[in-house]
Amino acid sequence: MPSAVYLDNNATTAVAPEVLEAMMPYLKDLYGNPSSIHTFGGQVMADVEAAREHLAALLGARPGEIIFTSCGTESDSSAIHSAARCLADRRHVVTTRVEHPAVRNVCRVLHDDLGYRLTEVGVDSQGRLDMDEYRDAVDDDTALVSVMWANNETGVVFPVEECAAIAKARGAIFHTDAVQVVGKLPVNLADSRIDMLSLSGHKLHAPKGVGALYVRRGTPFVPFVRGGHQESNRRGGTEAVPNLVALGRAAQLADQRIGDENTRVKALRDRLEKGLLATCPDARVNGGQTDRLPNTSNVSFEFVEGEAILLLLDQQGICASSGSACTTGSLEPSHVLRAMGVPFTAAHGSIRFSLSVYTTDQDIDRTLKAMPEIITRLREISPFGRGKPKTGAAKRSTK
Ligand code: PLP
Repeated sequence: MPSAVYLDNNATTAVAPEVLEAMMPYLKDLYGNPSSIHTFGGQVMADVEAAREHLAALLGARPGEIIFTSCGTESDSSAIHSAARCLADRRHVVTTRVEHPAVRNVCRVLHDDLGYRLTEVGVDSQGRLDMDEYRDAVDDDTALVSVMWANNETGVVFPVEECAAIAKARGAIFHTDAVQVVGKLPVNLADSRIDMLSLSGHKLHAPKGVGALYVRRGTPFVPFVRGGHQESNRRGGTEAVPNLVALGRAAQLADQRIGDENTRVKALRDRLEKGLLATCPDARVNGGQTDRLPNTSNVSFEFVEGEAILLLLDQQGICASSGSACTTGSLEPSHVLRAMGVPFTAAHGSIRFSLSVYTTDQDIDRTLKAMPEIITRLREISPFGRGKPKTGAAKRSTK
């Protein structure tokens, strides 16, 4: 089999060779504990602080505003729990219907277990946030607003600055899950109303097991992971030094590549979409009419099962995904596409292609060559029959 075509970069990315090189010494010789008094530990601490500076530079933040965490999920949980604790006299949380489970499920815990009022704001058919509904939702009892910057399944970008201004006017803390944005779109928190922002290393060519939470100076914060004094008493636990150094190096690389490569990556993504729409009948790009991440394409192929497409792509060495990586394995259509009102027969046949700076022209050629044949083959055996969903099947799956 020829080498794999990897179009699943919103699930995770390859570790950049430069990043691997930067982290290796900390897995071998530089194993000191940054909290140790001796020079060996002190050197490692200096390197952790350098990594913090690199990440802060990518975000337009101050190094002291960065808390290293283990992943995007921990960053989200930390932000949400902290806001609820710090504005304890307020009992309302606002989020959206299309958040990643790392936000959605934590907000639901506040509602289900702790009695908070929870408002999940909807989106339109293009995945755009309903700003009228959002404005109506935020009130003087709102402790926290958590609105993702860009959606992991469709790539649709939300107007987070506008959302933040509305939240701040009501005295709420504004958090954004920017896990899919950092490294793909420019971020400048110096000129921003955002109070807290989550990111994850493995989405920007650092390894799995590292993330960060930005907390604007002056924003009240209580730690989620308690223990030692690490991270200026804001996150206990001995630092995963190789991973932190890796994230710092990945941030430097992202800073250098964000402009040029996004133009090239976006052009590849657009060529892929154009080719798929031209060669596969009854295909549609979800969120295609609005502002999206340059690397993400979510395409529905009516009357076929997304999982079947993935399996046939996989046989040809092409990796993509249906829905988010976390929901793969569930037969329920994605909550994001459902919130957008994508019809059942299209939502079930949707595939997310997500590119990276390592995606090549040849990768797109191979995918465009494979897809029409796969779609034709699956439609021939589709239980829905092309254009005529069988009522039994439709009923069973809309439960
Ligand atoms: N938020 C979004 C938007 C994501 O896409 C993901 C991962 O897919 C996460 C949060 C969770 O990040 P992590 O895998 O680092 O926990």
